[in-house]
Amino acid sequence: MKTDIEIAQEAVMEPIGKVAEQIGIGEDDLELYGKYKAKLSDDLIKRVQDRPDGKLVLMTAINPTPAGEGKTTTSIGLAQAFCKMGKKAILALREPSLGPCFGIKGGAAGGGYSQVVPMEDLNLHFTGDFHAITSANNLLAAMMDNHIQQGNQLGIDPRQVVWKRCLDMNDRVLRNIVVGLGSKMDGMVREDHFVITVASEIMAVLCLADDMEDLKRRLGRMIVAYSFEGKPVTADDLHATGAMAALLKDALKPNLVQTLEHTPAIVHGGPFANIAHGCNSVRATKTAMKLADITITEAGFGADLGAEKFFDIKCRMAGLKPDAVVLVATVRALKYNGGVAKADLAQENLEAVKAGIVNLEKHIENLQKFGVPVVVTLNAFATDTQAELDYIEQFCKERGCEFALSEVWEKGGEGGIALAEKVLDALENKESNFKVLYDDKLSLKEKIETIAKEIYGADGVTYSNAANKELKRIEDLGMGDFPVCMAKTQYSLSDDQHKLGRPSGFTINVREVYANAGAGFVVVVTGAIMTMPGLPKVPAANNINVNADGVITGLF
Ligand code: ADP
Ligand code: MG
Repeated sequence: MKTDIEIAQEAVMEPIGKVAEQIGIGEDDLELYGKYKAKLSDDLIKRVQDRPDGKLVLMTAINPTPAGEGKTTTSIGLAQAFCKMGKKAILALREPSLGPCFGIKGGAAGGGYSQVVPMEDLNLHFTGDFHAITSANNLLAAMMDNHIQQGNQLGIDPRQVVWKRCLDMNDRVLRNIVVGLGSKMDGMVREDHFVITVASEIMAVLCLADDMEDLKRRLGRMIVAYSFEGKPVTADDLHATGAMAALLKDALKPNLVQTLEHTPAIVHGGPFANIAHGCNSVRATKTAMKLADITITEAGFGADLGAEKFFDIKCRMAGLKPDAVVLVATVRALKYNGGVAKADLAQENLEAVKAGIVNLEKHIENLQKFGVPVVVTLNAFATDTQAELDYIEQFCKERGCEFALSEVWEKGGEGGIALAEKVLDALENKESNFKVLYDDKLSLKEKIETIAKEIYGADGVTYSNAANKELKRIEDLGMGDFPVCMAKTQYSLSDDQHKLGRPSGFTINVREVYANAGAGFVVVVTGAIMTMPGLPKVPAANNINVNADGVITGLF
Protein backbone atom coordinates (compact mmCIF):
# COMPACT_ATOMS: atom_id res chain seq x y z
CA MET A 1 0.00 0.00 0.00
CA LYS A 2 1.27 3.46 -0.86
CA THR A 3 1.85 6.01 1.86
CA ASP A 4 0.09 9.38 1.86
CA ILE A 5 3.21 11.19 0.72
CA GLU A 6 3.83 8.69 -2.12
CA ILE A 7 0.28 9.19 -3.38
CA ALA A 8 0.65 12.97 -3.09
CA GLN A 9 3.98 12.98 -4.94
CA GLU A 10 2.55 10.97 -7.85
CA ALA A 11 -0.29 13.44 -8.30
CA VAL A 12 -0.29 15.63 -11.38
CA MET A 13 -1.34 19.02 -10.10
CA GLU A 14 -3.09 21.68 -12.15
CA PRO A 15 -1.51 25.14 -12.18
CA ILE A 16 -3.30 27.05 -9.43
CA GLY A 17 -4.72 29.52 -11.96
CA LYS A 18 -6.71 26.70 -13.55
CA VAL A 19 -8.06 25.58 -10.19
CA ALA A 20 -9.09 29.18 -9.48
CA GLU A 21 -10.92 29.39 -12.82
CA GLN A 22 -13.36 26.70 -11.65
CA ILE A 23 -14.68 29.12 -9.04
CA GLY A 24 -14.55 32.15 -11.28
CA ILE A 25 -11.31 33.66 -9.98
CA GLY A 26 -9.04 35.26 -12.57
CA GLU A 27 -5.24 35.64 -12.52
CA ASP A 28 -5.49 39.24 -11.32
CA ASP A 29 -7.02 38.12 -8.05
CA LEU A 30 -4.30 35.59 -7.25
CA GLU A 31 -1.02 36.34 -5.52
CA LEU A 32 1.11 33.42 -6.61
CA TYR A 33 3.43 31.52 -4.28
CA GLY A 34 5.03 29.34 -6.96
CA LYS A 35 2.96 27.27 -9.39
CA TYR A 36 0.54 25.56 -7.04
CA LYS A 37 -0.22 27.94 -4.20
CA ALA A 38 -1.78 31.38 -4.20
CA LYS A 39 -3.27 33.91 -1.86
CA LEU A 40 -6.64 35.49 -2.66
CA SER A 41 -6.56 39.25 -3.14
CA ASP A 42 -8.40 41.65 -0.83
CA ASP A 43 -10.12 43.04 -3.93
CA LEU A 44 -11.69 39.68 -4.69
CA ILE A 45 -12.85 39.24 -1.11
CA LYS A 46 -14.49 42.68 -1.17
CA ARG A 47 -16.00 42.19 -4.61
CA VAL A 48 -17.85 38.97 -3.77
CA GLN A 49 -19.39 40.35 -0.54
CA ASP A 50 -22.81 41.01 -2.07
CA ARG A 51 -23.24 37.57 -3.59
CA PRO A 52 -25.64 35.11 -1.94
CA ASP A 53 -24.12 32.57 0.47
CA GLY A 54 -23.75 28.92 -0.46
CA LYS A 55 -24.48 26.15 2.02
CA LEU A 56 -22.09 25.46 4.92
CA VAL A 57 -21.27 21.92 6.09
CA LEU A 58 -19.26 21.27 9.26
CA MET A 59 -17.08 18.15 9.56
CA THR A 60 -16.59 16.91 13.12
CA ALA A 61 -15.91 13.58 14.86
CA ILE A 62 -16.28 11.41 17.93
CA ASN A 63 -13.49 11.40 20.54
CA PRO A 64 -10.39 10.34 18.61
CA THR A 65 -7.42 8.03 19.03
CA PRO A 66 -4.01 9.76 19.01
CA ALA A 67 -3.75 9.11 15.23
CA GLY A 68 -6.83 11.18 14.25
CA GLU A 69 -10.04 9.76 12.81
CA GLY A 70 -10.10 11.25 9.35
CA LYS A 71 -12.08 14.50 9.52
CA THR A 72 -9.71 16.20 7.10
CA THR A 73 -9.59 13.13 4.87
CA THR A 74 -13.40 12.88 4.86
CA SER A 75 -13.84 16.63 4.24
CA ILE A 76 -11.59 16.43 1.21
CA GLY A 77 -13.22 13.23 -0.05
CA LEU A 78 -16.69 14.72 0.36
CA ALA A 79 -15.74 17.85 -1.59
CA GLN A 80 -14.24 15.66 -4.33
CA ALA A 81 -17.42 13.57 -4.39
CA PHE A 82 -19.60 16.66 -4.79
CA CYS A 83 -17.45 17.78 -7.70
CA LYS A 84 -17.78 14.35 -9.30
CA MET A 85 -21.56 14.77 -9.03
CA GLY A 86 -21.31 18.06 -10.87
CA LYS A 87 -21.84 20.23 -7.78
CA LYS A 88 -19.79 23.34 -7.11
CA ALA A 89 -18.09 22.55 -3.81
CA ILE A 90 -15.09 24.05 -2.04
CA LEU A 91 -13.07 23.31 1.10
CA ALA A 92 -12.29 25.73 3.92
CA LEU A 93 -9.68 24.01 6.09
CA ARG A 94 -7.01 24.84 8.67
CA GLU A 95 -3.28 25.04 8.01
CA PRO A 96 -1.26 22.29 9.70
CA SER A 97 1.03 23.00 12.66
CA LEU A 98 4.59 21.70 12.86
CA GLY A 99 3.88 20.41 16.39
CA PRO A 100 1.80 17.33 15.49
CA CYS A 101 3.59 17.00 12.15
CA PHE A 102 6.85 16.14 13.94
CA GLY A 103 5.10 14.61 16.96
CA ILE A 104 2.59 11.74 16.96
CA LYS A 105 -0.14 12.56 14.50
CA GLY A 106 1.80 13.57 11.40
CA GLY A 107 0.51 16.12 8.91
CA ALA A 108 -2.97 17.47 8.37
CA ALA A 109 -3.44 17.47 4.60
CA GLY A 110 -5.83 14.48 4.54
CA GLY A 111 -4.85 10.95 3.59
CA GLY A 112 -4.93 8.25 0.93
CA TYR A 113 -6.73 9.47 -2.22
CA SER A 114 -8.31 12.38 -0.40
CA GLN A 115 -5.50 14.85 0.14
CA VAL A 116 -4.72 18.49 -0.41
CA VAL A 117 -1.56 19.10 -2.42
CA PRO A 118 1.26 20.06 -2.44
CA MET A 119 1.15 18.19 0.89
CA GLU A 120 4.82 18.76 1.79
CA ASP A 121 4.45 22.53 1.46
CA LEU A 122 1.19 22.54 3.31
CA ASN A 123 2.59 20.50 6.21
CA LEU A 124 5.85 22.43 6.48
CA HIS A 125 6.14 26.19 5.83
CA PHE A 126 3.29 26.66 3.34
CA THR A 127 2.94 30.40 2.63
CA GLY A 128 4.57 31.47 5.88
CA ASP A 129 1.40 32.46 7.75
CA PHE A 130 2.43 30.73 10.98
CA HIS A 131 5.88 32.29 10.86
CA ALA A 132 4.23 35.70 10.52
CA ILE A 133 1.97 35.00 13.49
CA THR A 134 4.93 33.79 15.55
CA SER A 135 6.88 36.93 14.65
CA ALA A 136 4.03 39.27 15.52
CA ASN A 137 3.51 37.48 18.84
CA ASN A 138 7.17 37.66 19.77
CA LEU A 139 7.50 41.27 18.64
CA LEU A 140 4.86 42.18 21.22
CA ALA A 141 6.73 40.18 23.88
CA ALA A 142 10.00 41.91 23.01
CA MET A 143 8.39 45.36 23.08
CA MET A 144 6.86 44.64 26.46
CA ASP A 145 10.11 43.46 28.02
CA ASN A 146 11.89 46.41 26.47
CA HIS A 147 9.28 48.75 27.95
CA ILE A 148 9.99 47.37 31.41
CA GLN A 149 13.72 47.74 30.83
CA GLN A 150 13.45 51.34 29.56
CA GLY A 151 11.85 52.77 32.68
CA ASN A 152 8.46 51.02 32.72
CA GLN A 153 6.32 54.12 32.32
CA LEU A 154 3.14 52.04 32.25
CA GLY A 155 4.02 50.46 35.58
CA ILE A 156 3.84 46.88 34.26
CA ASP A 157 4.05 44.42 37.15
CA PRO A 158 6.61 41.82 35.96
CA ARG A 159 4.80 39.26 38.14
CA GLN A 160 1.57 39.92 36.27
CA VAL A 161 2.71 39.54 32.69
CA VAL A 162 0.13 37.41 30.85
CA TRP A 163 1.55 37.62 27.32
CA LYS A 164 3.56 34.53 26.44
CA ARG A 165 6.14 34.00 23.73
CA CYS A 166 5.29 31.39 21.10
CA LEU A 167 6.82 28.88 18.71
CA ASP A 168 5.17 26.44 16.29
CA MET A 169 6.90 23.40 17.79
CA ASN A 170 6.22 20.80 20.47
CA ASP A 171 8.86 21.86 22.98
CA ARG A 172 7.99 21.17 26.60
CA VAL A 173 11.14 22.75 28.11
CA LEU A 174 9.81 26.15 27.06
CA ARG A 175 6.63 25.87 29.12
CA ASN A 176 8.19 27.55 32.13
CA ILE A 177 11.41 29.52 31.77
CA VAL A 178 13.26 32.46 33.25
CA VAL A 179 14.19 35.38 31.00
CA GLY A 180 16.42 38.37 31.59
CA LEU A 181 19.27 36.55 33.36
CA GLY A 182 22.64 38.32 33.28
CA SER A 183 23.47 41.93 34.03
CA LYS A 184 21.34 45.06 34.32
CA MET A 185 21.69 45.52 30.57
CA ASP A 186 20.12 42.11 29.89
CA GLY A 187 16.61 43.03 31.01
CA MET A 188 14.42 42.45 34.03
CA VAL A 189 14.51 38.90 35.37
CA ARG A 190 11.08 37.30 35.36
CA GLU A 191 9.34 34.00 34.89
CA ASP A 192 8.17 33.55 31.30
CA HIS A 193 6.30 30.94 29.25
CA PHE A 194 5.90 29.76 25.68
CA VAL A 195 2.72 28.49 24.04
CA ILE A 196 2.58 26.70 20.70
CA THR A 197 1.76 29.23 17.94
CA VAL A 198 -1.57 27.54 17.21
CA ALA A 199 -2.67 28.32 20.79
CA SER A 200 -1.61 31.98 20.67
CA GLU A 201 -4.15 34.77 20.82
CA ILE A 202 -2.86 36.21 17.55
CA MET A 203 -3.79 32.97 15.79
CA ALA A 204 -7.33 33.35 17.15
CA VAL A 205 -7.43 37.04 16.27
CA LEU A 206 -6.31 36.36 12.69
CA CYS A 207 -8.94 33.66 12.34
CA LEU A 208 -11.78 35.80 13.68
CA ALA A 209 -10.91 39.13 12.03
CA ASP A 210 -13.15 40.40 9.21
CA ASP A 211 -10.51 42.56 7.56
CA MET A 212 -7.37 44.61 8.27
CA GLU A 213 -9.26 47.24 10.28
CA ASP A 214 -10.87 44.59 12.46
CA LEU A 215 -7.53 42.79 12.80
CA LYS A 216 -5.93 45.97 14.11
CA ARG A 217 -8.77 46.67 16.53
CA ARG A 218 -8.47 43.16 17.92
CA LEU A 219 -4.64 43.22 18.11
CA GLY A 220 -4.77 46.56 19.92
CA ARG A 221 -7.14 45.25 22.60
CA MET A 222 -5.00 42.24 23.51
CA ILE A 223 -3.93 42.32 27.16
CA VAL A 224 -0.22 41.76 27.71
CA ALA A 225 0.07 42.38 31.44
CA TYR A 226 -1.48 44.11 34.44
CA SER A 227 0.06 47.17 36.05
CA PHE A 228 1.02 47.46 39.72
CA GLU A 229 -2.42 49.06 40.21
CA GLY A 230 -4.08 46.09 38.55
CA LYS A 231 -5.00 47.87 35.30
CA PRO A 232 -4.78 45.93 32.04
CA VAL A 233 -1.92 46.94 29.75
CA THR A 234 -2.71 46.35 26.07
CA ALA A 235 -0.83 46.08 22.80
CA ASP A 236 -2.14 49.56 21.95
CA ASP A 237 -0.63 50.91 25.19
CA LEU A 238 2.73 49.56 24.01
CA HIS A 239 2.28 51.06 20.50
CA ALA A 240 2.82 47.60 19.02
CA THR A 241 -0.38 47.25 16.99
CA GLY A 242 0.76 48.80 13.72
CA ALA A 243 3.97 46.81 13.49
CA MET A 244 2.21 43.57 14.32
CA ALA A 245 -0.43 44.26 11.67
CA ALA A 246 2.33 45.01 9.14
CA LEU A 247 3.87 41.60 9.88
CA LEU A 248 0.45 39.99 9.37
CA LYS A 249 -0.44 41.79 6.13
CA ASP A 250 -0.11 38.74 3.91
CA ALA A 251 -0.99 36.16 6.55
CA LEU A 252 -4.47 37.71 6.65
CA LYS A 253 -5.08 36.63 3.05
CA PRO A 254 -6.59 33.15 2.54
CA ASN A 255 -4.52 30.56 0.64
CA LEU A 256 -5.81 28.59 -2.34
CA VAL A 257 -4.56 25.06 -3.14
CA GLN A 258 -6.17 21.96 -4.67
CA THR A 259 -7.12 18.40 -3.80
CA LEU A 260 -5.78 15.34 -5.64
CA GLU A 261 -8.85 15.71 -7.91
CA HIS A 262 -8.27 19.46 -8.39
CA THR A 263 -11.15 20.57 -6.17
CA PRO A 264 -10.39 24.08 -4.87
CA ALA A 265 -9.35 24.21 -1.22
CA ILE A 266 -8.97 27.39 0.80
CA VAL A 267 -6.60 26.62 3.65
CA HIS A 268 -6.19 29.41 6.15
CA GLY A 269 -5.43 29.77 9.87
CA GLY A 270 -4.99 26.87 12.22
CA PRO A 271 -5.82 27.12 15.91
CA PHE A 272 -5.80 23.78 17.76
CA ALA A 273 -9.19 22.70 19.07
CA ASN A 274 -8.09 21.38 22.47
CA ILE A 275 -6.29 24.53 23.65
CA ALA A 276 -7.69 27.12 21.22
CA HIS A 277 -10.91 27.62 19.24
CA GLY A 278 -10.14 25.04 16.56
CA CYS A 279 -11.53 26.60 13.36
CA ASN A 280 -10.04 27.98 10.13
CA SER A 281 -10.40 31.71 9.46
CA VAL A 282 -13.76 33.44 9.20
CA ARG A 283 -12.51 35.28 6.11
CA ALA A 284 -11.74 32.01 4.36
CA THR A 285 -15.06 30.41 5.28
CA LYS A 286 -17.11 33.45 4.29
CA THR A 287 -15.24 33.88 1.02
CA ALA A 288 -15.63 30.18 0.21
CA MET A 289 -19.40 30.50 0.74
CA LYS A 290 -19.48 33.29 -1.85
CA LEU A 291 -17.47 31.32 -4.39
CA ALA A 292 -19.23 27.93 -4.35
CA ASP A 293 -22.61 26.38 -3.63
CA ILE A 294 -21.34 24.05 -0.89
CA THR A 295 -18.52 24.84 1.54
CA ILE A 296 -17.10 22.05 3.68
CA THR A 297 -15.20 23.12 6.76
CA GLU A 298 -13.60 21.16 9.59
CA ALA A 299 -13.33 21.92 13.29
CA GLY A 300 -10.61 20.12 15.24
CA PHE A 301 -10.69 17.02 17.46
CA GLY A 302 -14.03 15.66 18.72
CA ALA A 303 -17.38 17.44 18.57
CA ASP A 304 -17.14 18.21 22.32
CA LEU A 305 -14.28 20.60 21.48
CA GLY A 306 -14.17 21.60 17.79
CA ALA A 307 -17.86 21.59 16.96
CA GLU A 308 -18.91 23.27 20.22
CA LYS A 309 -16.43 26.08 19.63
CA PHE A 310 -17.30 26.28 15.93
CA PHE A 311 -20.92 26.91 16.87
CA ASP A 312 -20.51 28.90 20.06
CA ILE A 313 -17.51 31.02 19.09
CA LYS A 314 -17.00 31.14 15.33
CA CYS A 315 -20.63 31.03 14.15
CA ARG A 316 -21.78 33.30 16.99
CA MET A 317 -19.15 35.96 16.24
CA ALA A 318 -19.28 35.73 12.45
CA GLY A 319 -23.04 35.34 12.13
CA LEU A 320 -22.67 32.04 10.28
CA LYS A 321 -25.54 29.56 10.08
CA PRO A 322 -24.35 26.05 9.28
CA ASP A 323 -26.71 23.93 7.17
CA ALA A 324 -25.52 20.41 8.06
CA VAL A 325 -23.00 18.56 10.23
CA VAL A 326 -21.13 15.39 9.32
CA LEU A 327 -20.00 13.35 12.32
CA VAL A 328 -17.06 11.06 11.54
CA ALA A 329 -16.69 7.79 13.44
CA THR A 330 -14.15 5.02 12.93
CA VAL A 331 -14.20 1.45 14.10
CA ARG A 332 -10.81 2.01 15.71
CA ALA A 333 -11.95 5.03 17.73
CA LEU A 334 -15.08 3.20 18.87
CA LYS A 335 -12.89 0.32 20.05
CA TYR A 336 -10.51 2.77 21.72
CA ASN A 337 -13.49 4.29 23.50
CA GLY A 338 -14.51 0.76 24.40
CA GLY A 339 -11.23 0.27 26.26
CA VAL A 340 -9.00 -1.49 23.68
CA ALA A 341 -5.27 -0.68 23.83
CA LYS A 342 -3.77 1.31 20.94
CA ALA A 343 -1.75 -1.67 19.70
CA ASP A 344 -4.84 -3.92 19.34
CA LEU A 345 -7.15 -1.60 17.42
CA ALA A 346 -6.75 -3.43 14.10
CA GLN A 347 -8.26 -6.72 15.33
CA GLU A 348 -11.98 -7.45 15.04
CA ASN A 349 -13.66 -6.85 18.38
CA LEU A 350 -17.40 -6.41 18.17
CA GLU A 351 -17.77 -6.33 21.94
CA ALA A 352 -15.41 -3.35 22.18
CA VAL A 353 -17.29 -1.54 19.40
CA LYS A 354 -20.51 -2.12 21.33
CA ALA A 355 -18.89 -0.81 24.51
CA GLY A 356 -17.46 2.26 22.79
CA ILE A 357 -20.51 3.25 20.75
CA VAL A 358 -21.91 5.23 23.70
CA ASN A 359 -19.36 7.85 22.70
CA LEU A 360 -20.97 8.18 19.26
CA GLU A 361 -24.39 8.25 20.88
CA LYS A 362 -23.44 11.17 23.13
CA HIS A 363 -22.02 13.18 20.22
CA ILE A 364 -25.18 12.64 18.17
CA GLU A 365 -27.27 13.90 21.10
CA ASN A 366 -24.95 16.88 21.57
CA LEU A 367 -25.01 17.95 17.94
CA GLN A 368 -28.80 17.76 17.87
CA LYS A 369 -28.83 20.45 20.58
CA PHE A 370 -27.52 22.96 18.03
CA GLY A 371 -30.46 22.37 15.71
CA VAL A 372 -28.41 21.44 12.63
CA PRO A 373 -29.17 18.23 10.64
CA VAL A 374 -26.60 15.50 11.41
CA VAL A 375 -25.23 12.82 9.08
CA VAL A 376 -23.02 10.14 10.64
CA THR A 377 -20.29 8.69 8.46
CA LEU A 378 -18.05 5.76 9.14
CA ASN A 379 -14.57 6.36 7.74
CA ALA A 380 -13.75 2.87 6.43
CA PHE A 381 -10.38 1.26 7.24
CA ALA A 382 -9.04 -1.89 5.52
CA THR A 383 -9.08 -3.67 8.90
CA ASP A 384 -12.82 -3.07 9.55
CA THR A 385 -15.02 -6.17 9.40
CA GLN A 386 -18.54 -6.45 7.99
CA ALA A 387 -19.97 -7.38 11.40
CA GLU A 388 -18.54 -4.19 12.90
CA LEU A 389 -19.81 -2.00 10.06
CA ASP A 390 -23.31 -3.53 10.14
CA TYR A 391 -23.60 -2.99 13.87
CA ILE A 392 -22.67 0.71 13.63
CA GLU A 393 -25.03 1.35 10.71
CA GLN A 394 -27.88 -0.33 12.58
CA PHE A 395 -27.12 1.70 15.70
CA CYS A 396 -27.41 4.99 13.79
CA LYS A 397 -30.59 3.98 12.02
CA GLU A 398 -32.24 3.06 15.30
CA ARG A 399 -31.53 6.60 16.48
CA GLY A 400 -33.12 8.14 13.42
CA CYS A 401 -29.74 9.37 12.24
CA GLU A 402 -28.67 9.46 8.60
CA PHE A 403 -25.71 7.19 7.97
CA ALA A 404 -23.25 6.59 5.12
CA LEU A 405 -20.08 4.57 4.77
CA SER A 406 -17.19 6.66 3.46
CA GLU A 407 -14.41 5.09 1.42
CA VAL A 408 -12.71 8.30 0.38
CA TRP A 409 -9.32 7.34 1.80
CA GLU A 410 -9.13 4.33 -0.53
CA LYS A 411 -11.09 5.62 -3.51
CA GLY A 412 -11.03 9.43 -3.46
CA GLY A 413 -14.21 11.26 -4.48
CA GLU A 414 -15.76 8.09 -5.90
CA GLY A 415 -15.71 6.61 -2.40
CA GLY A 416 -17.62 9.59 -1.03
CA ILE A 417 -20.66 9.58 -3.33
CA ALA A 418 -22.88 7.74 -0.82
CA LEU A 419 -22.00 10.29 1.85
CA ALA A 420 -22.40 13.22 -0.54
CA GLU A 421 -25.90 12.03 -1.44
CA LYS A 422 -26.92 11.91 2.23
CA VAL A 423 -25.45 15.35 2.87
CA LEU A 424 -27.15 16.76 -0.22
CA ASP A 425 -30.44 15.33 0.96
CA ALA A 426 -29.96 17.07 4.32
CA LEU A 427 -29.08 20.35 2.59
CA GLU A 428 -32.04 20.22 0.24
CA ASN A 429 -34.75 18.67 2.37
CA LYS A 430 -33.97 19.28 6.03
CA GLU A 431 -34.22 22.58 7.73
CA SER A 432 -31.37 23.86 9.87
CA ASN A 433 -32.59 25.65 12.98
CA PHE A 434 -29.13 26.54 14.18
CA LYS A 435 -28.83 27.99 17.65
CA VAL A 436 -25.89 28.54 19.97
CA LEU A 437 -25.81 26.56 23.20
CA TYR A 438 -25.78 29.47 25.65
CA ASP A 439 -26.68 33.11 25.77
CA ASP A 440 -24.05 35.88 25.91
CA LYS A 441 -25.78 37.28 28.96
CA LEU A 442 -25.16 34.30 31.23
CA SER A 443 -22.31 34.73 33.71
CA LEU A 444 -19.00 33.15 32.75
CA LYS A 445 -19.53 30.40 35.33
CA GLU A 446 -23.00 29.69 33.98
CA LYS A 447 -21.56 29.37 30.48
CA ILE A 448 -18.81 27.01 31.63
CA GLU A 449 -21.34 24.93 33.56
CA THR A 450 -23.72 24.75 30.60
CA ILE A 451 -20.99 23.30 28.40
CA ALA A 452 -19.74 20.96 31.14
CA LYS A 453 -23.18 19.54 31.84
CA GLU A 454 -24.85 19.64 28.43
CA ILE A 455 -21.91 18.67 26.22
CA TYR A 456 -19.47 16.79 28.43
CA GLY A 457 -22.08 15.13 30.67
CA ALA A 458 -20.44 16.36 33.88
CA ASP A 459 -22.21 16.67 37.22
CA GLY A 460 -20.66 20.05 37.88
CA VAL A 461 -17.54 22.23 37.80
CA THR A 462 -14.88 23.00 40.40
CA TYR A 463 -12.60 26.04 40.26
CA SER A 464 -9.11 26.69 41.62
CA ASN A 465 -8.72 29.82 43.74
CA ALA A 466 -6.74 31.45 40.97
CA ALA A 467 -9.52 30.69 38.47
CA ASN A 468 -12.18 32.13 40.79
CA LYS A 469 -10.18 35.34 41.23
CA GLU A 470 -9.53 35.72 37.53
CA LEU A 471 -13.17 35.12 36.58
CA LYS A 472 -14.13 37.94 38.91
CA ARG A 473 -11.47 40.25 37.47
CA ILE A 474 -12.59 39.49 33.90
CA GLU A 475 -16.21 40.26 34.74
CA ASP A 476 -15.18 43.42 36.59
CA LEU A 477 -13.28 44.53 33.50
CA GLY A 478 -16.47 44.21 31.45
CA MET A 479 -15.71 41.02 29.56
CA GLY A 480 -18.37 38.88 31.21
CA ASP A 481 -20.42 38.72 28.02
CA PHE A 482 -17.64 36.94 26.08
CA PRO A 483 -18.16 33.32 25.02
CA VAL A 484 -15.85 30.79 26.66
CA CYS A 485 -13.14 28.80 24.88
CA MET A 486 -12.66 25.54 26.75
CA ALA A 487 -9.16 24.00 26.91
CA LYS A 488 -9.58 20.29 27.58
CA THR A 489 -8.11 16.93 26.62
CA GLN A 490 -9.37 15.70 23.23
CA TYR A 491 -9.43 12.06 24.27
CA SER A 492 -12.31 12.17 26.72
CA LEU A 493 -15.60 13.98 27.15
CA SER A 494 -14.30 14.67 30.66
CA ASP A 495 -11.08 16.53 31.56
CA ASP A 496 -9.34 13.21 32.32
CA GLN A 497 -7.94 11.56 29.20
CA HIS A 498 -8.38 8.10 30.71
CA LYS A 499 -12.17 8.34 31.08
CA LEU A 500 -13.22 6.98 27.69
CA GLY A 501 -16.60 6.18 26.14
CA ARG A 502 -19.41 8.16 27.76
CA PRO A 503 -18.19 8.91 31.28
CA SER A 504 -20.58 9.91 34.05
CA GLY A 505 -20.28 10.94 37.69
CA PHE A 506 -17.38 13.33 37.10
CA THR A 507 -16.70 17.03 37.58
CA ILE A 508 -14.77 19.38 35.33
CA ASN A 509 -11.85 21.00 37.15
CA VAL A 510 -11.02 24.54 36.05
CA ARG A 511 -7.38 25.21 36.80
CA GLU A 512 -6.78 28.54 35.12
CA VAL A 513 -8.74 31.21 33.29
CA TYR A 514 -7.62 34.12 31.10
CA ALA A 515 -9.21 36.71 28.87
CA ASN A 516 -8.31 36.90 25.20
CA ALA A 517 -9.63 40.44 24.88
CA GLY A 518 -8.61 40.72 21.22
CA ALA A 519 -10.10 37.40 20.17
CA GLY A 520 -13.15 38.17 22.29
CA PHE A 521 -13.38 35.04 24.38
CA VAL A 522 -12.33 33.75 27.79
CA VAL A 523 -10.03 30.72 27.80
CA VAL A 524 -10.91 28.15 30.46
CA VAL A 525 -8.12 25.66 31.17
CA THR A 526 -9.31 22.34 32.62
CA GLY A 527 -7.67 19.18 33.98
CA ALA A 528 -4.02 18.70 33.02
CA ILE A 529 -4.16 20.19 29.49
CA MET A 530 -1.00 22.07 28.38
CA THR A 531 -0.78 25.02 25.99
CA MET A 532 2.69 23.89 24.90
CA PRO A 533 2.73 20.19 23.95
CA GLY A 534 5.77 17.89 24.21
CA LEU A 535 7.16 15.35 21.74
CA PRO A 536 6.57 11.60 22.23
CA LYS A 537 9.36 9.10 22.91
CA VAL A 538 9.72 8.38 19.19
CA PRO A 539 8.71 11.56 17.36
CA ALA A 540 7.51 11.40 13.72
CA ALA A 541 10.49 13.67 13.01
CA ASN A 542 12.80 10.64 13.45
CA ASN A 543 11.62 9.26 10.10
CA ILE A 544 11.42 12.41 7.98
CA ASN A 545 14.12 13.05 5.42
CA VAL A 546 14.90 14.82 2.15
CA ASN A 547 17.16 13.57 -0.65
CA ALA A 548 19.61 15.38 -2.92
CA ASP A 549 16.79 16.11 -5.40
CA GLY A 550 14.70 17.77 -2.72
CA VAL A 551 12.21 14.89 -2.45
CA ILE A 552 10.83 14.59 1.07
CA THR A 553 10.02 11.23 2.66
CA GLY A 554 8.44 10.18 5.93
CA LEU A 555 5.75 12.86 6.16
CA PHE A 556 2.32 11.35 6.66
P1 ADP B 1 -8.36 14.27 11.57
O1 ADP B 1 -8.55 15.39 10.62
O2 ADP B 1 -9.65 13.76 12.11
O3 ADP B 1 -7.37 14.54 12.64
P2 ADP B 1 -6.97 13.04 9.34
O4 ADP B 1 -7.92 13.15 8.20
O5 ADP B 1 -5.86 14.00 9.41
O6 ADP B 1 -7.77 13.04 10.73
O7 ADP B 1 -6.44 11.54 9.35
C1 ADP B 1 -5.50 11.12 10.30
C2 ADP B 1 -4.60 10.06 9.72
O8 ADP B 1 -5.34 8.87 9.47
C3 ADP B 1 -3.96 10.44 8.39
O9 ADP B 1 -2.62 10.05 8.43
C4 ADP B 1 -4.73 9.65 7.36
O10 ADP B 1 -3.92 9.27 6.26
C5 ADP B 1 -5.16 8.42 8.14
N1 ADP B 1 -6.44 7.91 7.67
C6 ADP B 1 -7.60 8.60 7.61
N2 ADP B 1 -8.59 7.81 7.14
C7 ADP B 1 -8.04 6.60 6.90
C8 ADP B 1 -8.55 5.35 6.41
N3 ADP B 1 -9.83 5.23 6.08
N4 ADP B 1 -7.70 4.31 6.30
C9 ADP B 1 -6.40 4.45 6.65
N5 ADP B 1 -5.85 5.59 7.13
C10 ADP B 1 -6.66 6.65 7.24
MG1 MG C 1 -7.84 17.35 10.67
